[in-house]
Amino acid sequence: MLSSLFIIQLGVIAMDIVVRFVELNPRIRGFVKESPDGFYNIYINSCLCREAQIKTYCHEIEHIKKNHLSSSRWVMDLEAEV
Ligand SMILES: [Zn+2]
Repeated sequence: MLSSLFIIQLGVIAMDIVVRFVELNPRIRGFVKESPDGFYNIYINSCLCREAQIKTYCHEIEHIKKNHLSSSRWVMDLEAEV
């Protein structure tokens, strides 16, 4: 977990994944979006506590790992998988 914290603070977890902390609607914890240049941008609500930010980060990573961004399935089905 320590390394994950460090990685989050660094903001970049891999060559193709960037973590951004932005102020979002309180009902939105975060989301992930693929940019045209092939990067995955993980947006995390900066208003969340640190623990919730880490949970959100792990949640969005699961979406990437399960290739949900290129899926045409219903969002609710995808959310049930992570
Ligand atoms: Zn999700």
